[in-house]
Amino acid sequence: MVTLTVNKHCNLNCSFCSNDNFDSVFDDPNSEPSLNELKRRLSIFCQEKKRDTLTITGGEPTFRKDLFDLLDYSNSFNFSKIFLLSNGCRFYYLDYCQHFTKYSNLEIEIPLHHFDSNIHNGLVRTPNSFKYALKGIQNLISIGVKVNLRLILFKQNYLDLVEYANFVNKNLQGINKVVFIYPRIEGSAKKNDDSLIVPYSKLIFNVHKSLEKLSEFNIDYEILHFPFCILNSKYWSKTLKSPYAMDNSICSKCNKKSICSGISIDYVDKFGLLELKKFE
Ligand code: SF4
Repeated sequence: MVTLTVNKHCNLNCSFCSNDNFDSVFDDPNSEPSLNELKRRLSIFCQEKKRDTLTITGGEPTFRKDLFDLLDYSNSFNFSKIFLLSNGCRFYYLDYCQHFTKYSNLEIEIPLHHFDSNIHNGLVRTPNSFKYALKGIQNLISIGVKVNLRLILFKQNYLDLVEYANFVNKNLQGINKVVFIYPRIEGSAKKNDDSLIVPYSKLIFNVHKSLEKLSEFNIDYEILHFPFCILNSKYWSKTLKSPYAMDNSICSKCNKKSICSGISIDYVDKFGLLELKKFE
């Protein structure tokens, strides 16, 4: 997997944004890399790493005027999939969306944090962002571009996950999948952790219920940043492996550690290890 960070600008101000490390990504934090520089970095990444998928992220990648040049260049590496992480607002404009139809391996990942616009807008601290993102997602689906809905789990939404599944079924027919994400406790999420972060044990019941509901609707899903010992085993095959360390006293003795996503150090700092069960 290759990840390319293409800019640092964003029109939202998410209370949980993890992108506090731009200075380490950009040589000059006051300017963005040129297209040639991004091409150069991509070529190097592709020499160094297994290159089955590419993730393009920012900031907000749709701010780049040369995004399509970058996508065209990326396709010369024959990635099986290219994921474009976006807040979705720019896709409010259908004529802009049309440019993406030519990339058959592209999946656009857009967060929608709640079906209540006030809660979504509050989490991203930007008025009207729900209206733009929802319309953007619907526009992309309507012209056949694959959209993965990112649902990051917070105090503000974890009680409403079954209703969220109902909302998706009613309003976003044709969505490619819903990705349930436990937040990284870093950047702004770390600064605001007391108002955002719920321990696994408190939200897992509602996650399971919501996954059941999506299955009933035949809507696909994936699960990111969930340890196996928290998650019902019937969902393990739907987890995405995350790069967490497992050198804690429980995971290091667990027989699932080679296939499990483990648990983040930030999580252990905040909540400890008590929720983890060791598999013998
Ligand atoms: S104890 Fe650690 S490795 Fe084992 S299932 Fe839980 S999180 Fe995964």
